[in-house]
Amino acid sequence: MAGVVRTVCGDVDAEAIGRIVLHEHLLFDLVRPGQRNGIGSPPITMANRWQVDYRSNENPRNARQLDPEVAAGELAAFAADGGALLVDQSTFGIGRNPEGQRRASVAAGVHVVAAAGTYVADYLDAETLVLDVAALTERFVAEVETGLDGTAVCAGLIGEIGCSWPIHPFEQRALVAAAQASRRTGATISVHPGRHVQAPFEIVRILEAAGADLSRCVICHMDRTYPDGEGVRALLETGVCVEWDFFGIEQSHYWMGEAELPTDLGRLHLIKALFDEGWGERIVVSHDICTCTRMTHLGGHGYGHLLRNGPTLMRRAGLTPDRVEQLLRHNPLRLLTLSPG
Ligand SMILES: [Zn+2]
Repeated sequence: MAGVVRTVCGDVDAEAIGRIVLHEHLLFDLVRPGQRNGIGSPPITMANRWQVDYRSNENPRNARQLDPEVAAGELAAFAADGGALLVDQSTFGIGRNPEGQRRASVAAGVHVVAAAGTYVADYLDAETLVLDVAALTERFVAEVETGLDGTAVCAGLIGEIGCSWPIHPFEQRALVAAAQASRRTGATISVHPGRHVQAPFEIVRILEAAGADLSRCVICHMDRTYPDGEGVRALLETGVCVEWDFFGIEQSHYWMGEAELPTDLGRLHLIKALFDEGWGERIVVSHDICTCTRMTHLGGHGYGHLLRNGPTLMRRAGLTPDRVEQLLRHNPLRLLTLSPG
């Protein structure tokens, strides 16, 4: 059965789309709203890029990428690695720029999917934080069907919807609105859970009670939420999809807490075991690039790492070629294909 994927340049026949990275940021501003004026840190150079990268988005210069031309260059590098489509999950609150996404997509000849929805409450203005479920639902539906932020560029996915721990009342309303907007538009939901082992389960309860189709809901960030994999099976049993989206991050220091993050091979060993248990259709992978030093122009691995280096590691972890294709194409494609009604 044919279907379409809604890109920033319009609807595209799903069958015609090749390899995908499902959770990235192309144009973004993750600097805390209170710190956005006057970025005082020194420029990122070859001499300091390793240290800046190691401390990730602690450096505000590293935590924002606002230039569509830089985005186009990174998309071209992704295409050279065999990439066909990138999803920029920058939701409202972290510098979403639909017109810039469209320009970068056209310049590089790479499909880009934009995101409807809102990020965590800390990044939102007072005007947004007062919106009720009905207003948020209408807004998310319009973002998918009419256009984002006053443009005619439409979203093809709802989220990452940002959630904190404990969850903020606004974030609960955004989840309910996402569930209703997903039912109306057929777009999949992606959720950034709060930093707690119970956070994903609370989110699933809210989504389920609001009528979401859990097979079209993705819980992000398994890497830092369940670093050793403990908890992932129970989450899968609820019916959702799970995402390892820290591919390319392989270091001891975690800039957001105490988690001991897995390596790429460690992630793939967990994924291989879950495939063997029959969960393969509900596993997705990505890099969640949201710092400049992870991009190729600053010596980083870029959006193409999973395509360039992933298959070799996946085979080493014991994944067969069709499972590799499932991770790099079929699973994300199913989630991105609009499923109305
Ligand atoms: Zn993200």
